[in-house]
Amino acid sequence: MENLIHTVQDTNPVPKEPRHSENPHKSIRHLKEKFDDPLVTANNEPRGYVDLTKLETLWINTGTLCNIECLNCYIESSPKNDRLVYITHDEVTAYLDEIEREAMGTREIGITGGEPFMNRDIIGIMAECLQRGLQLIVLTNAMRPMMRFKEKLLPLQAQYGKQLTMRVSIDHYSQATHEDERGPGSWQPMLKGLQWLSDNNFTIDIAGRTRWGENEGDLREGYAALFTENNIQVDAANHKQLVLFPEMAPETSVPEITTACWDILNVEPTDMMCASSRMVVKRKGADKPAVIACTLLPYEEEFEFAATLSESKKRVHLNHSFCAEFCVLGGGACSVKESE
Ligand code: SF4
Repeated sequence: MENLIHTVQDTNPVPKEPRHSENPHKSIRHLKEKFDDPLVTANNEPRGYVDLTKLETLWINTGTLCNIECLNCYIESSPKNDRLVYITHDEVTAYLDEIEREAMGTREIGITGGEPFMNRDIIGIMAECLQRGLQLIVLTNAMRPMMRFKEKLLPLQAQYGKQLTMRVSIDHYSQATHEDERGPGSWQPMLKGLQWLSDNNFTIDIAGRTRWGENEGDLREGYAALFTENNIQVDAANHKQLVLFPEMAPETSVPEITTACWDILNVEPTDMMCASSRMVVKRKGADKPAVIACTLLPYEEEFEFAATLSESKKRVHLNHSFCAEFCVLGGGACSVKESE
């Protein structure tokens, strides 16, 4: 099994033009046969699965439009991609009502995009979550779309304090590498937004990436120097404040996950994101939003459940390469619990 892990982890290619060239959704066709059957693997072994234990976190995708286009964006966000359209305040309210009505015990709402601040309902959506006492984490690139809402964000910070976390994407601690991924001119606006958040006492998490092959210690040191130099109030040694995400490289040969893998790898199914979260998306042309298994598979119909949270409590069969690569072997998660 150690060899399997090395097969996955040692193959993070340096990105090349054109942008989205390694788009996971376009390049997994050769893996389809392997992951076709939700119940058994290509070797006819029982496939691993995950049951929802409790809906701890509900992710809301605000739409895939973004002000920038990153080279390896798993959801292909760009100024043109509207495959997932803007969700409305009313649609989000209906899900929050369902959480209360069904006493689901949800503690956290995560907001992701695209760039969430491209959605004009974003402040209303944030306020709706916060006033219900839910923890709220908003994923943003901290660039101009966020800064347009400065005056409306300040009262939310003042009223709700640590209930609100802004997670800013900084792919790498160096400007050159960050801009290789995010495009020329993407560094300074991000830094300006990050400094504004820090200066105004927002709780900040940073989302970094590991795709350039540096070890974790070096990465955390690099980020720490960046934060010190710019007076950013983030502790780079803290695994909640600086989350380093493993990479999804779909062209690699990914092993399938069987029911035996949990014991072999000493991994618990309850640690997978789909054991404690779901994501709401609104597809272009759809008359209402849908609930899907997780943030990683927004376009996969097999991982879409239904329109309501109650109907989305079904078992998730791990027949996608990302299940193995990112979650079971990579140890990735979009939320980090306070205790970690
Ligand atoms: S990618 Fe991860 S979170 Fe999503 S369904 Fe697979 S195991 Fe679950």
